[in-house]
Amino acid sequence: MPDPEMKFPVELEQYERKIYDLKQIIEISKGLSSTLDYNTLIDSILLTCMGHMQLLKAGIFLRKGISFDNFTLHRNYKGFEIDHSVEYELVALSGTVRLIESRFKCFTMDEFKNVQDEPSFKNLKRLNPSLIVPLVSKGELNGIMVLGERINRRDFTENEKEYLLQVASLAGIAIHNARLYEMATTDMMTKLKIHHYFQTALVEEFERARKYKRPLSLIMADIDYFKNFNDIHGHRAGDSVLKNVAQVLIENIRPMDIAARYGGEEFTIIMPKTDIMEALIAAERIRENVSHRKVKIDERELSVTVSIGISQMDPEADKNKNDLIERADRALYISKRNGRNRVSFL
Ligand code: GH3
Ligand code: MG
Ligand code: MG
Repeated sequence: MPDPEMKFPVELEQYERKIYDLKQIIEISKGLSSTLDYNTLIDSILLTCMGHMQLLKAGIFLRKGISFDNFTLHRNYKGFEIDHSVEYELVALSGTVRLIESRFKCFTMDEFKNVQDEPSFKNLKRLNPSLIVPLVSKGELNGIMVLGERINRRDFTENEKEYLLQVASLAGIAIHNARLYEMATTDMMTKLKIHHYFQTALVEEFERARKYKRPLSLIMADIDYFKNFNDIHGHRAGDSVLKNVAQVLIENIRPMDIAARYGGEEFTIIMPKTDIMEALIAAERIRENVSHRKVKIDERELSVTVSIGISQMDPEADKNKNDLIERADRALYISKRNGRNRVSFL
């Protein structure tokens, strides 16, 4: 017969554990709801789960951008050895994803028996997950968390799974908010950032460059004779060209650079930690790639050129970001005046 006296300390310990967990959940909630940046968000979700569950590996599948339905492994995964020749993609309409969105619970790999032959399941299996957790907001799946092996190699207890689901529901809301923010700050036609976002980001980068004594460069680009192009080929062809030029920008910059649509057919790129010579190389690459890019419209192959102006922040002379913009703009004007399809800097 168990000693009734002994029951109390065990219960007390359990309650203390629950209070500790709840306090942690509140802290996580505060952390997740205060960031709209995907990289920071993914890191906090993963590091929280890894710390609490003693995991060696964890990652999150997300939609790549606002116009994507399928999920791909976000680059901030931890611990997994990734084969870079493979796209870790889970198709939105696959049985694998449908199963994950069918219930808000933690899944183990043996629950996917019926979809074993699917490419999406095979992509998931490559990571050898010990647990798969849906991230949901307003009934919609917006991410899939994949947990790898644990330091202690133990199975997850029911309490631990419950804890993970609590974190997952907070993470689902935070990812949803980040997505809404991304939509509100993205130009739908070109998928670049909008003008207002550019202005705000440039203020931040200007201050950061000054504080850490790092270089900062700015590129301004404008399509040449675009009014003429529209008049000859029509607005629909013009829109296609705009999307293609934006794509060239995206393909030729680093993840930390911020490309925006400055206005109609004008673009800008904020290049942190970049001096004028490095910016010049990037700008020249962009100019050349735009001029070689052919856009096919009704059997016609069309192309345009861009003129580019660059400036580098001068910590002594520049009062604020407007000085940087004004110099890049003047450099752009020089490119136009000297015949277009060229790069100038000031
Ligand atoms: P320049 O070489 O001096 O830059 O000549 P430009 O004709 O490009 O310059 P201008 O600023 O006079 O004309 C810009 C044109 O860009 C006017 C407008 O028809 C076109 N444009 C602006 N936004 C859009 C858009 O969203 N779609 C299309 N198709 N055209 C646009
Ligand atoms: Mg213009
Ligand atoms: Mg123009």
